[in-house]
Amino acid sequence: MTSPNQTAAATQERVPFLDLASMHDEIRPELDAAWHAVTSRNGFVGGALLEQFEKEWAAYCGREYCVGVGNGTDSLIIALRAAGIGPGQEVVLPANTFIATAEAIVAVGAQPVFTDVDPDTLLMTAAHLEAAITARTTAVMPVHLYGQPVAMDDLCAVAQEHGLFVLEDAAQAHGATWQGKQAGSFGQVGSFSFYPGKNLGAFGDGGAIVTDDPELAATARWIGNHGAAAESRYIHRVVGGNSRLDALQAAILSIKLTRLDAWNEGRNAAAREYNARLRNVPGVKTVKVADGARSSYHLYVVRVADRARVQAELGAQGIDTGIHYPIPCHLQEPYRQYASGSLPVVEAAAEQILTLPMSPHLTEAQVSRVCDALERAVSPR
Ligand SMILES: *Cc1c(COP(=O)(O)O)cnc(C)c1O
Repeated sequence: MTSPNQTAAATQERVPFLDLASMHDEIRPELDAAWHAVTSRNGFVGGALLEQFEKEWAAYCGREYCVGVGNGTDSLIIALRAAGIGPGQEVVLPANTFIATAEAIVAVGAQPVFTDVDPDTLLMTAAHLEAAITARTTAVMPVHLYGQPVAMDDLCAVAQEHGLFVLEDAAQAHGATWQGKQAGSFGQVGSFSFYPGKNLGAFGDGGAIVTDDPELAATARWIGNHGAAAESRYIHRVVGGNSRLDALQAAILSIKLTRLDAWNEGRNAAAREYNARLRNVPGVKTVKVADGARSSYHLYVVRVADRARVQAELGAQGIDTGIHYPIPCHLQEPYRQYASGSLPVVEAAAEQILTLPMSPHLTEAQVSRVCDALERAVSPR
């Protein structure tokens, strides 16, 4: 029983950062059937369920080929390896990204070249890429961060002019579009993560690359499966490894894919509510989604001064938040050696960004509670 003198916040449920349970409740019978289907046959790694999901995901992305792999980080590493990117080569990426983008470049022995980002969208632009290109640049990894697609037509034009391989890190952008085209469909390769918290998430780790290049798809498949040739698992074409998407994850992803557009629309509806409420709140700056972009709103990010206090006050009001990301890649200890100076926009943003709750089933009432609490936290005292 709640006593009348408890605070309003304490009597209300927390607003979770991400509500996966409501998504799973919606598809519970299908998930149960998938579990049954997987456990009543032998194909746990590879097989028909994987092939089916790969076909579906390639088609959704508007691509010829999809290769399922063990996780999103491996999908980046395998794509770089399959493209022959390695020692002596530079790969351009934004400093405002999850660390995996940079990890992949170092993992193949190439050199990461970090760029700053646009102050409104917090994304890399064609101009940032152009300024970072040297004689040793062979690839660029635009990141559709927070689910907002990078302006890919301009970026690809610069890449093409300089003969660069374009690997899109679309780990946060399943179903996002730039001028009506899917994130992951612009570069030579699109890379995805199916980590449980992503917009299309498995019940464990998973990832995929999508491409229109048959040779690259075949090489990626070999790399993730011990170099094994399609015609015989005992013929090894390349020195590979083990990074595969298993049948259970594939079956779950096929089910969730049927909801992806509706769930992304749920996220967009919540984002419209946030935008409408926060537009005129002094002290809160929202991240701009460019004209021509439809965000998948993996994350809803605002900028505030005095973030630590604001975050603590929201927490005390029962509102879970995050920071994506508090320390930019080029300032992380193992990556400082690759940094070539300060990146003022990324560094300033890292001090201010705050990620608010976002889920497909986030209600108007929940958004309203978050906005009320945020408004109180940023108002002059
Ligand atoms: C999640 C994520 C990855 C890595 O994916 P994992 O499946 O966790 O390995 C890479 N890049 C970005 C931008 C991500 O958000």
